[in-house]
Amino acid sequence: MADEEARGVERMEVSPGLPQTPQALAAWWDQQVDFHTTFLHHLALLVPEIYSAEMDPDLEKQEESIQTSIFTPLEWYLFGEDPDICLEKLKHSGAFQLCGKVFKSGETTYSCRDCAIDPTCVLCMDCFQNSVHKNHRYKMHTSTGGGFCDCGDTEAWKTGPFCISHEPGTAATTKENLRCSLNEEVIAQARKMFPSVIKYIVEMTIWEEEKELPSELQIREKNERYYCVLFNDEHHSYDHVIYSLQRALDCELAEAQLHTTAIDKEGRRAVKAGAFAACQEAKEDIKSHSENVSQHPLHVEVLHSDVMAHQKFALRLGSWMNKIMSYSSDFRQIFCQACLREEPGSENPCLISRLMLWDAKLYKGARKILHELIFSSFFMEMEYKKFFAMEFVKYYKQLQKDYISDDHDRSISVTALSVQMFTVPTLARHLIEEQNVISVITETLLEVLPEYLDRNNKFNFQGYSQDKLGRIYAVICDLKYILISKPTVWTERLKMQFLEGFRSFLKILTCMQGMEEIRRQIGQHIEVDPDWEAAIAIQMQLKNILLMFQEWCACDEELLLVAYKECHKAVMRCSTSFMSSSKTVVQLCGHTLETKSYRVSEDLVSIHLPLSRTLAGLHVRLSRLGGIARLHEFVPFEDFQVEALVEFPLRCLVLVAQVVAEMWRRNGLSLISQVFYYQDVKCREEMYDKDIIMLQIGASLMDPNKFLLLILQRYELADAFNKTISTNDQDLIKQYNTLIEEMLQILIYIVGERYVPGVGNVTKEEVTMREIIHLLCIEPMPHSAIAKNLPENENNETGLENVINKVATFKKPGVSGHGVYELKDESLKDFNMYFYHYSKTQHSKAEHMQKKKRKQENKDEALPPPPPPEFCPAFSKVINLLNCDVMMYILRTIFERALDTDSNLWTEGMLQMAFHILALGLLEEKQQLQKAPEEEVTFDFYHKASRLGSSSMNAQNIQMLLEKLKGIPQLEGQKDMITWILQMFDTVKRLREKSCLIISTTSESIRNDEITHDKEKAERKRKAEAARLHRQKIMAQMSALQKNFIETHKLMYDSTSEMSGKEDSIMEEER
Ligand SMILES: [Zn+2]
Ligand SMILES: [Zn+2]
Ligand SMILES: [Zn+2]
Repeated sequence: MADEEARGVERMEVSPGLPQTPQALAAWWDQQVDFHTTFLHHLALLVPEIYSAEMDPDLEKQEESIQTSIFTPLEWYLFGEDPDICLEKLKHSGAFQLCGKVFKSGETTYSCRDCAIDPTCVLCMDCFQNSVHKNHRYKMHTSTGGGFCDCGDTEAWKTGPFCISHEPGTAATTKENLRCSLNEEVIAQARKMFPSVIKYIVEMTIWEEEKELPSELQIREKNERYYCVLFNDEHHSYDHVIYSLQRALDCELAEAQLHTTAIDKEGRRAVKAGAFAACQEAKEDIKSHSENVSQHPLHVEVLHSDVMAHQKFALRLGSWMNKIMSYSSDFRQIFCQACLREEPGSENPCLISRLMLWDAKLYKGARKILHELIFSSFFMEMEYKKFFAMEFVKYYKQLQKDYISDDHDRSISVTALSVQMFTVPTLARHLIEEQNVISVITETLLEVLPEYLDRNNKFNFQGYSQDKLGRIYAVICDLKYILISKPTVWTERLKMQFLEGFRSFLKILTCMQGMEEIRRQIGQHIEVDPDWEAAIAIQMQLKNILLMFQEWCACDEELLLVAYKECHKAVMRCSTSFMSSSKTVVQLCGHTLETKSYRVSEDLVSIHLPLSRTLAGLHVRLSRLGGIARLHEFVPFEDFQVEALVEFPLRCLVLVAQVVAEMWRRNGLSLISQVFYYQDVKCREEMYDKDIIMLQIGASLMDPNKFLLLILQRYELADAFNKTISTNDQDLIKQYNTLIEEMLQILIYIVGERYVPGVGNVTKEEVTMREIIHLLCIEPMPHSAIAKNLPENENNETGLENVINKVATFKKPGVSGHGVYELKDESLKDFNMYFYHYSKTQHSKAEHMQKKKRKQENKDEALPPPPPPEFCPAFSKVINLLNCDVMMYILRTIFERALDTDSNLWTEGMLQMAFHILALGLLEEKQQLQKAPEEEVTFDFYHKASRLGSSSMNAQNIQMLLEKLKGIPQLEGQKDMITWILQMFDTVKRLREKSCLIISTTSESIRNDEITHDKEKAERKRKAEAARLHRQKIMAQMSALQKNFIETHKLMYDSTSEMSGKEDSIMEEER
């Protein structure tokens, strides 16, 4: 140290009478060989002087001295002429392309819903007012601080990336001015100066010694002046800090309040000055007064006055640098280069990374200035933003871990910058290709989540900390940012790296598949309601990420097939215990199923199945791409195991049914809430909806009778249909009836719900339209209520505005308040009483409303299902559920019970659902007969339903049963529906009989066409025929596929049919 001081003094003597004017000083600096040493020496001399009065500074004087003795000389050094003139010139050359205004907390930001690439792209008020977007659909937000204006970023906007003031080529930014501003000399000076400036800023900011300065800065005798410095934290209340200060410093309330306000704003403040020992004492006092059982003590340090001064000035220098960089793109680039340079031979990261890695240790005020420094340099230059992003990803894991154990808000953490980089489409792609960022994020999650893993390696969030989990959500959010814009171009490398990331993501889903299992509580009520919010919250966070992963996979058939294979493998790995469990046999009307013995009401069950649901999502997308026929190349038939895939989603649906049947009432509110969210608009797309799809996959690939037997078995209803249950236990009867209703409803959904692109031939618009129609069938609603009930995509859009006017008309507000949308009359025909997103209350409200409406218009009260859209080929076999033996048996049993005066194992609701299924069967056959010649239509619902049953009961066919039901006075309300069904039976019958006639007329019309040479018509016919052949071909493929699946599992099917040698009495009925 003594040596250093001596050298310092020496130098002073070498330059006798340091130049007095800034100009002369700058010129003198220029003559020195080493700018860095000279610069530090200058700071060492001046900074401690200027900042000496820390406790009670004269801020104006301080600023003036910094300006004249440091900044102005630096500016002279940089420009070689009067900086005021030079900066004025530069200002008019306006080298901006981006606005880059950094938002303060509470500032209003604007986002264009029509043009923003994603909702994170925002404009400041000035830019918005001067842009085309003010005439578009826009949203206003209140900034939490830290973000910046994206005006000028061509990747952030589909159209109108510039406002008038930032438009290139306008008066403010003419082309010739853009680059002419800086001459070579200035650039050379900047290259000499900036590295020293940034090095000083970084080194002082991360300086850890409390008492010593770096040797270059320690040029004079150290004084005995110290500060006791108090830091802000987010745990102690305002009052607690004031109290601790008053006690420890023995000061007035006003002074303690002053300190506390400053600490809250800036993040740190000197609260006492003096000798080391005195400050040390104050430190211990504050700590002991702020500590109690539940709280750590406040963070206090004793800093030497010189250390404090240099740290303060380093930040002030940062702000000055910000100003300088705002004048020129060249300055920004030189600065960034200096930040990124790695010291030769050093293991240390580059300067900007060192700063990032130090972020979580810094106090608020310092972080803010450093983040602004990053904004005004790296984020204003696209090329350097990329380099910054690469450094950010390089240290991502560490940064996130530091953030998770930090106690400051996300808005002042460097990790919050992720949104600025990950949402830029080209950057995201680059980071995936070059740094595998998806895997980096998922691996970070896998490293921070293990504390929540149970011994089965499944997550369990019992007793979680909300704050900590909230910080982990931020990492999940980054995954969303990376995926928010789908690539339009796929390189081989991008595919490879994306798949790598997808595999890594599957590992997280594996820890979620089957997590937080529950068992039905019998006898006693559960003691403590388990935590459920964390798991559901993660599910909500993941919803759009899961959907985006599926959409990315679906960009390319090959990619999708590989992803399917990986996901299938992961599901099967989670099903091993199921595969090895013991077996049981179910028999009904001559059909037999051997299946695993498992009961939802007795065994463990989980509502969390993201792997199964992702697989269902991939299956649907494969169907949409027409690639199902190639699936066996990736997942061999013998490995497919459709029953295992269906099993877990089915259990989940059965759990819901049993909850409705009040079988789980002893398990408390926690389960009720989970079941609610399972079907709620915030979660259902990746929970409930996907479970229905998985059952549709099962129904499309399994033998329909066996599929229904499996459903009956899991609903624990096989007995209820197999034998006459005679009991007087009203509770038990009620429970059975509820379960049967729930099961019928699910069967209706499996067969009837086709409004998912890939399941049925529908578009996304049609799906949204249907949702809106069903909401408005309940009652007219204001815009906000409709929007609240529609799922939001990753861009927070529901698609509502695009379609609402097609199905509804807006009624202006009356005296009562807000205007509402009313359904158009022509949309009423699309009403489906058993719409799968209706809650129980919505269902009965809608039914009531629609019946009332029909009554007022003197129409009958039948509410048959609307004709559903056609299934996609991959799902076409689902309709076979309708006309299979077991279904006929179920329907007949229900009708017979309704006619049997002794039976109470039926309800009117159950009958209504049975009618709905009948109607679906007849509609299907009618539609098929209208499209194809009679002999080609193998779907024989009419035939099956008209056949006589021979059983212990009266031999009657379904039509006869319906006629009888019509005569029961209590069923008056169903009369119209029965009449509708009977008429439909007639229609289908006539279509079957008249088919010969129809064929002859069509062939005649073809002849007519030929005669009139109506080429257009002929062409249409040809196209229709080609389409029909194509359809037939695909259907044949699908049949082969299904046959293959059945054949591979033939062993299982065969062994069971052998056991069914003893047929029951009803057996011959449906054969
Ligand atoms: Zn702006
Ligand atoms: Zn602008
Ligand atoms: Zn716009």
